[in-house]
Amino acid sequence: MNTRSTVEDLFRRRTQPVGDGHLDWTGYRNKKGTATLHWNGGTHGALRVAYRIRTGQDPIGYAHATCEHPGCVAPEHAADSAVTPRRGHHTGPINRQPSSSDDQVKTLLREGLNDRQIGRSLRTSPKRVARLRAELELPSFHNRPLTFDDRWDANTEPVDGGHIRWTGRLREGTSPAVHHERRYVSPRRIVFERLHGRAAVGRVLPGCGYGPCVRAEHLEDQPMRDQLAKQYAAIFGEVAA
Ligand SMILES: [Zn+2]
Ligand SMILES: [Zn+2]
Repeated sequence: MNTRSTVEDLFRRRTQPVGDGHLDWTGYRNKKGTATLHWNGGTHGALRVAYRIRTGQDPIGYAHATCEHPGCVAPEHAADSAVTPRRGHHTGPINRQPSSSDDQVKTLLREGLNDRQIGRSLRTSPKRVARLRAELELPSFHNRPLTFDDRWDANTEPVDGGHIRWTGRLREGTSPAVHHERRYVSPRRIVFERLHGRAAVGRVLPGCGYGPCVRAEHLEDQPMRDQLAKQYAAIFGEVAA
């Protein structure tokens, strides 16, 4: 036979009926366990091909099986995630926002929100949040609210030169912000006040030359900058106006 086989032909050769209309995949599965087939120089998801066999078109979202048979690739059971929510993804209303990314969840975890709060604010399952919490090796905080120090530890890292970089949330792309006493505040103001025993006046910025620095000893507020300017003036004469 020298007729060129189609991707659908290839699909059929790699499947095996197992009763109740389910179809097992006998072909290749990638590392994630997704049934795929190579055809005409490209890789095709078996469920996408199955969906196309049933509907004559490509799914808009992901192709997934609506049945309970593990690994089923039956065209009759193939659905489009953009049309039919995936199994196990039924926790929210149908018109919910697109699922939040792991990074979004992890950001809130590091900020110390509990699983239920994160689930509510990102419209995701608290179970998924708990799984990501375990990945980060963060303890569960149902009983104890996070302290500023917990948040500081989770959102900072030392940098060469004795600086400390903020790895957490930024306001307006540059200003470190930490969830503290039910609102977002500058972690710089908090560590500044702790070190100097007084509230900062004006903006608190690193004076060390490392822009993202949040190390208390490297921070200056407006009176400190004014004082430094005066000292320079005394040493070098009049400062430039
Ligand atoms: Zn099935
Ligand atoms: Zn610094």
